[in-house]
Amino acid sequence: MTSSARPLLNRRLAEFGTTIFAEMSALAAATGAINLGQGFPDTDGPEEIREAAVRALREGRGNQYPPGPGVPELRTAVAAHQLRRYGLSYDPDTEVLVTAGATEAIAAALLALVEPGDEVIALEPYYDSYAACIAMAGGRRVPVTLRPHAGAFRLDLDELRAAVTDRTRLLLLNTPHNPTGTVLTREELTAIAALAVERDLLVVTDEVYEHLVFDDAEHIPLATLPGMRERTVTIGSAGKTFSFTGWKVGWITASPALVTAVRSAKQFLTYVASGPFQYAVAEALALPESHFAAFRKDMRARREVLAAGLAQAGFGVFKPAGTYFVTTDIRPLGETDGFAFCRALPERAGVVAIPNAVFYDHRAEGAPYVRFAFCKRKGVLDEAVARLKRLAV
Ligand SMILES: *Cc1c(COP(=O)(O)O)cnc(C)c1O
Repeated sequence: MTSSARPLLNRRLAEFGTTIFAEMSALAAATGAINLGQGFPDTDGPEEIREAAVRALREGRGNQYPPGPGVPELRTAVAAHQLRRYGLSYDPDTEVLVTAGATEAIAAALLALVEPGDEVIALEPYYDSYAACIAMAGGRRVPVTLRPHAGAFRLDLDELRAAVTDRTRLLLLNTPHNPTGTVLTREELTAIAALAVERDLLVVTDEVYEHLVFDDAEHIPLATLPGMRERTVTIGSAGKTFSFTGWKVGWITASPALVTAVRSAKQFLTYVASGPFQYAVAEALALPESHFAAFRKDMRARREVLAAGLAQAGFGVFKPAGTYFVTTDIRPLGETDGFAFCRALPERAGVVAIPNAVFYDHRAEGAPYVRFAFCKRKGVLDEAVARLKRLAV
């Protein structure tokens, strides 16, 4: 304890209290409610990939500091994955950097590329670490709000264009988008790319849900569009793609100059992480397409259970085109305040969800929306739906 009146937490971070996930997960634990708040699967990823991690550990691969940029096996596998899926060619030695999850990739990219005072445009609602990392980098966040339109949250391209100023340094994108489930279309991405080229902006694009797109939605990496490869940092992660969120293996792909810059920050954050897991993820990325297709099909089935159940319980449902979240509108239930609704929900229905308002600067815009995760076993989803139906009156 210091005697001065100065607060311990510095000004950059003062506005960020405990994350909502900690608060809601504690509430779930205290009440025995089903936790559809935090987005982690309740089933581990493929057995053979778990075994690959055990093998690496036993054989002494990765038990000591791995190379700073990541083990060559993983960098090669990331490059092969980008080439095979998207036709994007990256040099594993100079254009791939392994990070401690996408979280560190986001932090390192912003700390490396943003000068104090630079403006960073992020699509609102945004993943909670974006705001904190922009703040730690001394940047100024400029939210552009996705709004409901024909059953999905969509980007207003005119609003995006109007948000760019002479101080704008980078666009921070996320597609497929958490929490709304929106997948940016080729038309939207083409317009974003043209704007980035015209205004000479860098783009950091968080594509951790690249394998979780449903129906006729298509994930298009921004880096595939004209003029974008050299100005885009693309972020991927094994956490969401392979259901190993605790392993914290992520990566970026970008030009050598961008990778070098991001690495300058990354080396002083964790330096390296997840040694044995890096070898296992290298094997996971080489799994046949049938594996990814089965994963998508399985998650799609869970989406159907939760989306249909929420609709029957009386929620307005935005059926997601990607990710493993459903954003709902609580106004049809006669509610308007997502915070109050989520705080009461464990008591009322034995379920935990996340108020989308925490992902907004314009909190009022997000007030009536609430997010549920469907990356849970079917029995858990069935039970959650049965409980939520108590809300329908
Ligand atoms: C989960 C998530 C992350 C964090 O990924 P890790 O690899 O676990 O660090 C980043 N961005 C979005 C949009 C996420 O949903």
